[in-house]
Amino acid sequence: MRYSKSLIPTVKEVPADAEIPSHQLMIRAGMMRKLASGTYIYLPSGWRILTKVMNIVRDEMNESGAQEILMPAVQPMELWQQTGRNVDYGPTMAHFTDRHGRENVLAPTAEEVVTSIAAGEINSYKQLPINLYQISFKFRDEFRPRFGVLRSREFMMKDAYSFHADEKSLDETYKIMYETYCRIFSRCGLKYAIVEAESGEMGGSSSHQFTVPCESGEDIIVQTEDGSYAANLEKAPVDALPKAKRDKKYDKVQEVHTPNQKTIDEICVFLKANAKELIKSLVYKSGSELILVLVRGDFEINPEKLRCAAGKSIELADEETIKKLTKAEVGFAGPVGLAEKVNKFIIDHSVLTIEAGITGANKTDYHIKNVIPGRDFPIEGKNVIIADIRNAVEGDTYKGKKLLFKRGIEVGQVFKLGTKYSSKLGAKFLDKDSVEKPCIMGCYGIGINRIAASTIEISHDDDGIIWPISIAPYEVIIVPAGNGDEILKAAEELYNELIAADVEVLLDDRDARGGVQFKDADLIGIPIRVTIGAKSIAENNAEIKLRRDKEITKVPLQKTKEKIIELIEKLKAELDVDA
Ligand code: ATP
Ligand code: MG
Repeated sequence: MRYSKSLIPTVKEVPADAEIPSHQLMIRAGMMRKLASGTYIYLPSGWRILTKVMNIVRDEMNESGAQEILMPAVQPMELWQQTGRNVDYGPTMAHFTDRHGRENVLAPTAEEVVTSIAAGEINSYKQLPINLYQISFKFRDEFRPRFGVLRSREFMMKDAYSFHADEKSLDETYKIMYETYCRIFSRCGLKYAIVEAESGEMGGSSSHQFTVPCESGEDIIVQTEDGSYAANLEKAPVDALPKAKRDKKYDKVQEVHTPNQKTIDEICVFLKANAKELIKSLVYKSGSELILVLVRGDFEINPEKLRCAAGKSIELADEETIKKLTKAEVGFAGPVGLAEKVNKFIIDHSVLTIEAGITGANKTDYHIKNVIPGRDFPIEGKNVIIADIRNAVEGDTYKGKKLLFKRGIEVGQVFKLGTKYSSKLGAKFLDKDSVEKPCIMGCYGIGINRIAASTIEISHDDDGIIWPISIAPYEVIIVPAGNGDEILKAAEELYNELIAADVEVLLDDRDARGGVQFKDADLIGIPIRVTIGAKSIAENNAEIKLRRDKEITKVPLQKTKEKIIELIEKLKAELDVDA
């Protein structure tokens, strides 16, 4: 490609809304332009990069035995109603009514649609297992689109769905997908960490996330000090803290007047107490069932862990329900006298570390002190569950090992789904004994744009992007420094030789100053730069520089092509997962 004919509009200015390096650099390097909040136009170099990522993904998916299909971007709402996800997905799902009054969904994912294919086409165990995937745009009306294409509203996703006759077969494909993901990310040059994740809302039993550790990541990765266990924050289990010793006689519960003091912080200041003495009480519901949940004042409830402890999806109760139950304004609930009135009572381990605590009095503007767990409210019994339902924090351990925290970007996730979708959408098959069963499913997603953006996050410097050769827009850039006929002639010759050798090369034939050319080459991040200038013509050599290194190597002009091909092979070999 000739730079003069290409559209790679590099800019100096950093867009005002671009907070992180990948977003800034993707705009500055002329890869993309913003169309509207969370939607981007990919310009030629940006699309070349995404195409390369897609090709790696496609290559590895095909190699794994999966088959590519393409499903529509517009899906009938009816399918989502059958699984109930029209409600569960919430406002993130964009939808519209067509001219015939039918409700449609802009695909945020495709479990429902792919399961409808299985319902129609699969009838026998002999057709199983099967793994179908697509690479297509998804739309999610993200609450806060930001960080460029790390969290955009429209993004390219590879989504795969597998169907099985039994758990063992699902386990096998899950393992193959897990290994395929490792190969994909390694070939893209990404340094990644695999963490256990909650399969939560998806309805399954097991899940792993592939994350790229970096500062701008929105996920928190929790890892034991020795690296033997890693999970995301939604999942990360913690050891129970030592229970309080209660060997003295305690005074009776005492009521204290706390006008308008509702939050933990307010109570702490007002009563000169430490949050570690406070028992936070929250009322949840699931249908008509009421659930009282306790956690120590200095901890946060982890919704995923709470859902697991409750054994189903539950949500915070509304104001009316809380008022009716506690007979007080919201902010004054407590377990004393209330524990017996709810259907379930879930207590985080941390509450048992409290010797004598402070909690709401179930009376507006009042709290109670000297609350002894086990004396003033039950800590065992039929409806009582003691569980780990809080977020891990600095200082926690798991299986005796200290937990460390770092940020990461989720680039892919694999799930064991079970039969949630197949049973609701009638994807059944006849097994060996002619018994009808729902297919057991797995699903596997990868964010194509997120791979590109997270690569930039971990691979850039002050001058611009440093692409790994496998997903770089071009492998080589030739910079003719100066305008002499001989310079241009030598550059053109090398350009033609490289094209003939199938090298992806960009020739900077623009009528620009050398400084501008070098700056752009660094910004765009092409792995190999070849410079031919007046001096090199005089000395009969070209200067080769790797974007990631400082050194410049001089090579005789006649040997430049071979040297470049050798370098490309070397850079590719570094990413070769089969080597
Ligand atoms: P997140 O938790 O970051 O919102 P998710 O868990 O909802 O992501 P999945 O449903 O697992 O995402 O989608 C599969 C992959 O699609 C993710 O691993 C991620 O790489 C990518 N992805 C999801 N949402 C976005 C988005 N808004 N912008 C870009 N990529 C996304
Ligand atoms: Mg995910």
